[in-house]
This record gives sequence, structure tokens and C-alpha cells, in this order.
Amino acid sequence: MWCSCRIQVTDTSRLHSLLSNKPFVPTDDELSWLLSQDSFDSFLFKEADAVRQRFYGKQVYLRGLIEFTNYCKNNCLYCGLRAKNSLISRYRLSKEDILSCCAQGYALGYRTFVLQGGEDPFFTDEIIIDIVSSIHKAYPDCAITLSIGEKEKSSYQDFFDAGARRYLLRHETAAPEHYRKLHPTSMSLERRKQCLFDLKAIGYQVGSGFMVGSPYQTVENIIADIRFLQSLQPDMIGIGPYITQSDTPFKDFPNGDFKLTLRLIAVLRLMFPYALIPATTALGTICPEGRELGLKAGANVVMPNLSPVAVRKKYAIYDSKICTGEGSVQCRFCLERRVTNAGYEFSTDIGDVKKH
Ligand code: SAH
Ligand code: SF4
Repeated sequence: MWCSCRIQVTDTSRLHSLLSNKPFVPTDDELSWLLSQDSFDSFLFKEADAVRQRFYGKQVYLRGLIEFTNYCKNNCLYCGLRAKNSLISRYRLSKEDILSCCAQGYALGYRTFVLQGGEDPFFTDEIIIDIVSSIHKAYPDCAITLSIGEKEKSSYQDFFDAGARRYLLRHETAAPEHYRKLHPTSMSLERRKQCLFDLKAIGYQVGSGFMVGSPYQTVENIIADIRFLQSLQPDMIGIGPYITQSDTPFKDFPNGDFKLTLRLIAVLRLMFPYALIPATTALGTICPEGRELGLKAGANVVMPNLSPVAVRKKYAIYDSKICTGEGSVQCRFCLERRVTNAGYEFSTDIGDVKKH
């Protein structure tokens, strides 16, 4: 008893001295220790929340997510949209469908539209440029974010010239041997990283990130992910738990750990105080209060779904995805209630990064 108390005191003082370092730049040993502790979570989350409030106050930014195609030419082993999944029913939204999602979103106060999809060859650069420039023309006061995978630098430049200003491309894992376990040999970590640096060089606000608890992931892999993020210095960092998709080769692997995901959100907030960090739908899928707890651990973005209800269930990257039954209006007000109940302000500001 006496002994365990002493250990507790020692650990608490280690945590305090670690977090008193500003900026917070932990060593590998410190990171692996911090991520393995579950007795300090409330203290860690409070610290992260204080840092986020210093940079962003209580504001939580909204991003209207339009999942415009579930076709994909790739075969990431964890994802239900993979080309080899013959059990999924495929769809594509037309330009008119997408513009009508934007119109609905605009009326609901959204000032950022995120166009996300699989790598679908149907959507040539020309088509994407046309869609982006049409949205930009109709809503010049809104930010357009793309999340459509790996492209040539010249394509990224063309999308930028058409009006896109943000791009989400998770690196997924920064450890080459882990990357090879999650992807077929036709895909390459080096290329993915190159895409991220190309996007930055063009002038996009760039988001990267990874899944927590993806099959075969180790603590060392997570540390490598954090080190990669330090070298990239992204504007947005998206992490969420890996969630099993029953029609993939990884169908027998368990979901990622919820608490570890929250702890990582807090650590990322402390290390990247300026970053825009979403409380992801995946977090809300593995725990009913997941997004609220994500906000309290340091996240400051939510991404309500703006896709037509008729296609939502088909964007089945993982099983049991939430928010597939309600329309855009319900989703918006549900999230506003959740954000407010968690003690934050639901912001319709465009929500650019506050980087120095
Ligand atoms: N095709 C694009 C965007 C769509 S996928 C791309 O890959 O970048 C968007 C994200 O979904 C991926 O980056 C991945 O991190 C996440 N994802 C895919 N399968 C998942 C799963 N089973 N559990 C949790 N997240 C998953
Ligand atoms: Fe395609 Fe993206 Fe899914 Fe990989 S993660 S299969 S690129 S949609």
C-alpha cells in the first residue's frame, strides 16, 4: 500500500515536470510512458484543453462533409471502399448533387465544404476542377477542402488554382514495415509523404494523421507517426480509432482503443497547439459520447455529414458508422447540441488555422 502510493507520487511528479516543458517536445521514452498511463487522463485532458483554449478559445469549427464517391481503385486492407470489395453497392454524386449539398450546408451556416471520396478514376482532374471552381464561384466566402487521395503535383496545383485551399491526406502510418502490412505493394509510403510535401509547397492548409489501433500497430509505430507529423508540421491532424470493416481482409482484427485515441488527441494538442484537430465520426462510432470526450481532450473541429441520406450507408469505410440515418439538418443540430453540452461554442466561422 505504502509502496504503491510512493510509485503514484513519483509518476505524478514525472507527469507534472514533463508537461511543464514549453514547448512540449517529449522524447521517445517519455511518449511511450505517457501513452501507457491511464491514471492521469483527466489531468492530461485538462492541460490539453487549456492549451487549445489559449489558441482557439472555446470555438469548435464546423466542416460540412460531402462523401461524393465510394468507388476506389486502391486496395488498402483496412477500408470497405477498397476496389476488391464486391459486396459494397457503389455510387457517385453528380456535380448538381454536390452543389445542392453545398447549398443546404451554406443555409445551415457551414463555411467549409470537404469533398471526400475514394480514388475514383471517373473523376478526372478536369471534372474535379469544374466542381471546385463551381463551388468557389457560388460560395466565394467558403473554404473548399479536398480529400481525394494521391495525385500528381500538377493536379494538386490545378485544384488549388480552381479554388481549393485545404487538403486532407492521412499518412496512415509512418513506419515502412507497418505501411506494407496495411497496403498492397502497389502503394508506397514514400509517395504518400511526397504528396503531403507537394501539397504544402503549393500553399494548401494540409491535414495528415493516422488510425489508432490499426492491425499490427505498435507503440513505436505511433511514435514514428508523431515524429513524422513534427517534420511535416501539418495545419490539421486527423486521428481516429481503427474500426473493423467486415468485408475486408482485416475483418478479424479488433477496433482500436478508445482511451488511447483520446490520450493521443491530448498529446497532439500539447505538441501542436495551433493545429485543427477533429473529433472524428470514428470516435463517435466506438463510443456514444466519443466526440464530446474528444473535444474535452483537445479537439476543436467537428465534421457533420452533408451527403444525401440515400447514399450515406454506402460510404462504408468501416462498420456501424453513425450519422447515416439522419438528414443534414438533424446532423447539424445534433452536433450543435453535443458541442454546447460539452461546454464549447459551435462556430460557423471559416475556421482557418492559427499558425504563427
Ligand atoms: N481515399 C482517400 C479518402 C477517403 S478514406 C484517402 O484514402 O485518403 C478517409 C480515411 O478513412 C483514411 O485516410 C483512413 O484513415 C480512414 N479509414 C479507412 N478505413 C478505416 C477503418 N476501417 N477504420 C477507421 N478509419 C478508416
Ligand atoms: Fe481507397 Fe482511401 Fe479506402 Fe484506401 S482508404 S481504399 S484510398 S478510400
